[in-house]
Amino acid sequence: MFNEYPLHVMLENLKHQVYKASLKLLEQGLVIYTWGNVSTIDRTSGLVVIKPTAVSYEELIPADMVVLDLEGNIVEGTLKPSTDTNTHLELYRNFKEIGAIIHSHSEYATSWAQAGRGIPPLGITHANFFNGEIPCTHPLGIKQVEKDLELETGKVIVNTFLSKNIDPMRIPGVLVYGHGPFCWGKDVTSAFDHTVVIEKVARMAYRTLALNNVSPVEKDILDHYFFD
Ligand SMILES: [Zn+2]
Repeated sequence: MFNEYPLHVMLENLKHQVYKASLKLLEQGLVIYTWGNVSTIDRTSGLVVIKPTAVSYEELIPADMVVLDLEGNIVEGTLKPSTDTNTHLELYRNFKEIGAIIHSHSEYATSWAQAGRGIPPLGITHANFFNGEIPCTHPLGIKQVEKDLELETGKVIVNTFLSKNIDPMRIPGVLVYGHGPFCWGKDVTSAFDHTVVIEKVARMAYRTLALNNVSPVEKDILDHYFFD
C-alpha cells in the first residue's frame, strides 16, 4: 500500500485514515466514550498505526496516533497505544492478508457476543459481506485472563479461525465471547464497512429469529452473493 511514497509520508496518511475512522465510529453510534479502536498496517515496513488509549474522541488529533512494530515496540508517538493493541498485533501476525482492524462495542453485535452465539447467515445482506456464520470465540479461562488478556484474546480469535478452517478474508469479523466484535479488511475503508455491517446483520438476525426460527442460508447461495 502506497509503496511509491517515502515511509514518513505514508505513515502520516495512515494516521489520518485511523483518525478519521475513529471519529466515524463515534458519529455512527458504534462506540461511546473512549471505547473502540482502529488500526492499520503497512505490510512493507511491518509498521502498525493505532489509536491511543484514554483520549476522548473530541480531543483526538491525527498526530496522537501511535506507530508500533509487530512486536509492540513503539516507533513513533508519545501516548500509550490502545489497550487492545496486543489483540491487533496477534491478528496482523497471523492473518497476513488483512490491512486494518476495528474493534467496537456496537450494541447488537455485542449482545450476540455476550450470549456466546455466532451470528448465523440468515439472508443476502449477511451473505454479501460474510461468507458464512460470524463465529463467536470460546470464553477465556482465568489463567489466560491473568496472563495477558489482550494477547490471549488475539490467540483465541486466531484459534477459532484455524480450528474451523475459516478464511479471515471471507469472514472478516468475529465476536469475542462476552466482549464484542473485531472486524478487519484489506484496508481501513473495508474494515469500517464490515464494522457497520456486522452491527446491521446482528440486529437483523436478532429480529428475524424473534419472528421465526428460520434456518441459515445454504452454502451455494452464500457463495453466489459473497462480494470477494
Ligand atoms: Zn472492547
